[in-house]
Amino acid sequence: MKQDCPMYEDLSEILITEEQIKNTVKNLGARITRDYQGKNPLLICILKGSSVFFTDLIREIDMPLDIDFMAISSYGPNTVSGEVRLVKDLDCSIEGRNVLIVEDIVDSGKTLAYLKRILNNRGAASIRIISLLDKPSCRTVPLAVDYIGFEIPNAFVVGYGLDFNEKYRNLPVIGVLDEKMYK
Ligand code: 5GP
Repeated sequence: MKQDCPMYEDLSEILITEEQIKNTVKNLGARITRDYQGKNPLLICILKGSSVFFTDLIREIDMPLDIDFMAISSYGPNTVSGEVRLVKDLDCSIEGRNVLIVEDIVDSGKTLAYLKRILNNRGAASIRIISLLDKPSCRTVPLAVDYIGFEIPNAFVVGYGLDFNEKYRNLPVIGVLDEKMYK
């Protein structure tokens, strides 16, 4: 995408460039390849936000793996960190599987804590979490994230799968959405 695409005008700052994303995703893929040797992991994409990260990540993992998809929706006082509910469940069983949940961003931790609660009693051999972004200062629910791409400050970010009102998912960078867009 060209830098003169109008979507860039809605950002107050580019936080993470395409090149930084590429390098980090490559490194994460290499770590997973090492850690899951011989384990035929099942990677779960949490729709829709992690779709872009997910499709890049799986192509950096050099071994056989399976994929599946889940969708969660947030509701409540604010849509970023309200209560969550399951919109689409997995198609496959996770019994005996080494599961890796692939998320775009961890904010309060509520979404992933909820997901782990759902999956924990389905007999998986292991369940780990990978998130491209983490806002550690926003955590309200204790949650261990096993692999993190970037720690970021408390700002509302878009791009590389992350949206605002379904827009900006196709931005190749991660940027802070200018306040003028929602105030
Ligand atoms: P949590 O449940 O950890 O508070 O929130 C996780 C979900 O909130 C993410 O999957 C994402 O959908 C949304 N979210 C949290 N922070 C941001 C942000 O800065 N930008 C966008 N676009 N979504 C966010």
